[in-house]
Amino acid sequence: MQLSAQQNKLIVTDKMHRNSIDTEMNTFLEEINSDSIKATIQWLQNYGTRFLKDTNHRSIAVWLQQKFISIGYQNTVLDSFLHITQFNNPGFYTEDTTWQYNVIATLEGSVYPDSICIAGGHYDSMSDSAYYGKAAPGADDDASGVAAAIEVARVFKKINLRPALTIKFIAFAAEEFMGFTRSGAAYYAARADSLGEKIKFFANNDMIAYEPSANNWHADFYCFIGMDWMKNMAVSACTKYTDIIPNIINQNCPGDAFPFFERGFQTLHFFEDIFNPYYHTRNDVVEKLNMPYCAEMTKITMAMLIGEAHAVVGINEPIADLYSSLNIYPNPASNSMYIQNSLQEEVKMQIMNTIGEVILQKVLTKGVNETNLRSFKSGIYLIQFTADEGVFQQKLIIRANRN
Ligand SMILES: [Zn+2]
Repeated sequence: MQLSAQQNKLIVTDKMHRNSIDTEMNTFLEEINSDSIKATIQWLQNYGTRFLKDTNHRSIAVWLQQKFISIGYQNTVLDSFLHITQFNNPGFYTEDTTWQYNVIATLEGSVYPDSICIAGGHYDSMSDSAYYGKAAPGADDDASGVAAAIEVARVFKKINLRPALTIKFIAFAAEEFMGFTRSGAAYYAARADSLGEKIKFFANNDMIAYEPSANNWHADFYCFIGMDWMKNMAVSACTKYTDIIPNIINQNCPGDAFPFFERGFQTLHFFEDIFNPYYHTRNDVVEKLNMPYCAEMTKITMAMLIGEAHAVVGINEPIADLYSSLNIYPNPASNSMYIQNSLQEEVKMQIMNTIGEVILQKVLTKGVNETNLRSFKSGIYLIQFTADEGVFQQKLIIRANRN
């Protein structure tokens, strides 16, 4: 056992937390219930369509808000944004604006409320070449991902799992038209970036319930460039706690994770391994889905949240968290960068370029550490932090403005 003494307070280290969680993790994950997930998918499917321009889109957001409230998230909000659509396709043209709504339920962290872990999916749906008022049940795409987030949220409340970091469960709007205009996830990520919101990671579940086999299950993990920390964490949760074999696909992919990746937040897109042949048709219905597989997929997100938001049953003790204990400013940086290290230990820092070459490395002591960046060219870099508490990576943007 490692205990760090800080002003007579005992701090639980990350390793201690993981060891103690390990013994209970499977008990927590067994609470994930495929019938409960299925009921949510069925509700969303019953709307007939969740096309973002259809007149029912606000009532779906309100239903999701009520759903979160009914499982204990009284703080759930509709986070509205103006959606400007310019879309031209054979037989369908629209150029207008609508209000769209991300639905956000928050479980506030007891130790690091300003550090946020996000789990979510998108609730809008569409059918190819069929828009207003056409059947778009979207059971797999992506009622499954939304239902997964709701199920994890439900279990956290049910067994009184309390996180040290804040968890946000988000049903995102307007994903299906993201190629043409700003999606709900892009709206969220842009605002989070401009406000300096501290997002540890975003687990995006989009199409996680189609699997024709009764066993030998796989999942596709789309790992964006520079998202190795999240990939390693997800692979470890998947292999340790589920019956699913992870397939790692090292490439960027469109969807709600993309705008988070663009802003430098750690993210990963979870996807079924066998592509759903009913995608974007009136046959993407819950009857075609494999609910035990979907429940197993949901466990990956739950295990990651428990591990990374340091959730425990009951009250959190002071716990060390590498990510939450480091503050980098400014980012984007120009001539100098400052990192405040609030951990009780030294942290090794490496700055790498996009092809993984280490350009600078140093040790950060407790307190504020200044790094001179005058020799760096403008561009995107990756900073990796290593301590006894673990490893974390994040993006550093350097905008050289030398006089
Ligand atoms: Zn989708």
